Amino acid sequence: MATGLMKTIGAGELSTGNIGEEVTLAGWVARRRDHGGVIFVDLRDASGVVQVVLNPEDAPASEEVLHGLRLEYCVQITGLVRARPEGTTNDDLATGAVEVVASDLSVLSPSQVLPFQLDDRVDVDETLRLQYRYLDMRRSRMATNLRARSQAIRAMRNVMDEEGFLEVETPTLIASTPEGARDMLVPSRLRKGNFYALPQSPQLFKQLLMIGGVERYYQVAKCYRDEDFRADRQIEFTQLDFEGSFWGQEDVLEVLDRIARRVVFDLRGTPVEGDFARMTYAQAMERYGSDKPDLRFGMELVDLSDVFSATEFKAFEGVLESGGTVQAINGGQLGLARSGLDAQVSRAQELGAKGLVWMVVGEDGSVRSPVAKFLTESEIAEIVSVCNAEEGDTLLIVADKLTVVRSVLGQLRLDIGKPDNNDELAFAFIVDFPVFEVGEDGSLSPAHHPFTAPADIDEMINSPETAMSRSYDLVLNGTELGSGSVRIHDPEIQAKVFEVMNISAEDAENRFGWFLEALRYGTPPHAGFAIGIDRFVSILRNEPNIREIIPFPKTQTGADPLTGSPSRVEDDQLAELGIEIRTSVLEAWADIDEDHSQE
Ligand code: ASP
Repeated sequence: MATGLMKTIGAGELSTGNIGEEVTLAGWVARRRDHGGVIFVDLRDASGVVQVVLNPEDAPASEEVLHGLRLEYCVQITGLVRARPEGTTNDDLATGAVEVVASDLSVLSPSQVLPFQLDDRVDVDETLRLQYRYLDMRRSRMATNLRARSQAIRAMRNVMDEEGFLEVETPTLIASTPEGARDMLVPSRLRKGNFYALPQSPQLFKQLLMIGGVERYYQVAKCYRDEDFRADRQIEFTQLDFEGSFWGQEDVLEVLDRIARRVVFDLRGTPVEGDFARMTYAQAMERYGSDKPDLRFGMELVDLSDVFSATEFKAFEGVLESGGTVQAINGGQLGLARSGLDAQVSRAQELGAKGLVWMVVGEDGSVRSPVAKFLTESEIAEIVSVCNAEEGDTLLIVADKLTVVRSVLGQLRLDIGKPDNNDELAFAFIVDFPVFEVGEDGSLSPAHHPFTAPADIDEMINSPETAMSRSYDLVLNGTELGSGSVRIHDPEIQAKVFEVMNISAEDAENRFGWFLEALRYGTPPHAGFAIGIDRFVSILRNEPNIREIIPFPKTQTGADPLTGSPSRVEDDQLAELGIEIRTSVLEAWADIDEDHSQE
């Protein structure tokens, strides 16, 4: 690490090779132990921690300063590096074989009493951590995650650079575009009543760059989507966004493969073995009930409709007659008691199924199940055989509409399934997505975004519900790391897609006329992708939540406890923007304020 003038070396860089050297360190008091006069301090800086011995007899500072030294004081220390006395070395610490005997200490900046202990072993409420994020990131968990994030971005940039991509920044105040999520809007002062949108992604700009002849573009891009929060979602997040001209799906996947492998290697130090799995959307849905299957374990969905084609069991018979399906997963040796099995039933209902049938396979292929008495022996034998079940296995069966069966079993599979090894990484390319998602009311919305090329334009016009697109996703351990597609480069086809989406020609012209116009100037065929950096790094760091990877994230409710955003603004500011807050909102504010004043 470049040290600057206030220190000669990083605390964490010291080793036995430095014994005998005089060094100057600067950092924070991470721990302090008073041993009858001699004070031991763990001095931490960005490079790590080293033990410093402050012996009043060596007079590194006045007694007052020495004894006044508190946790997280920012200090500068000069001293001699020596081997730790025998029996006092610390194998848990990278610098544990040495210590620095201080000859000089100055307090650069004292610290108030801390709101929480910066010890990693102490569990701290997340809101408090976020409110004092600058302290939280002195802890090794956050410090390590920030380093990992930086390493990942560096790895990505290196690959992009080697492949000849040009890094281009695109604006973050743009016109609203239809990318699927709700836009975050920014009011314009100069054009009152008009709004910029923050980009959901640089999608249209990267396509303009292709029209502009850039051919290979990338960007570490901030994206904004006003969506509900989840563990792997924030309103503001970062993508590695890239695009290429004269490029198709296979070109994109090849570069993507290289990027993913490089990031894993640089962060984990071990290569990803073998090829990434690849399957179509249809296969993923059929086998795993999900378009982002977790392939670290099997437990595939098994279709039992044939087994029950002539069943007398009314519940299944009715579902099959009305065009539904009966499917199962073999949960393996779950060893659940009755209450545990009932909990699975409730979980399935919570997920939208009318019910769930469980079966525990006994000796000789008999089963224990609340519905066993309604099934014939041969049905039971077939279920056991089709599910490849062994004694002790628990089968979970759902009968319903295909979409419900898949989503419920797909989720139960994730609830139950466990990877053999927590560090395992199962990458998968999912290809051949449909063009549209069909809503309950029959409405069509783009499965990816409306700039994605349909596989066949006639198919898209004639049967949009089942038409396929040229889009693809990268999935890691059941999480969608990102998506991309081959784009439409023909303005007529682009206009048709808008039409099928029920955006009238006039509306399309008003909203995206500028883009349709650009497509008319010799647009090269192009394709691209975007990887969610926060998600990727959180998985590689085994973090349960992308907030652990984002330096200053928002809470689940979109607030930042550190800076207080989002916040009300002054009336003057609103007036300048030509904005007035509705009475109903003002009344709601009054209630909130009253609640606060009573707290
Ligand atoms: N813009 C797309 C997204 O953010 C990615 C792409 O199609 O390249 O999902």
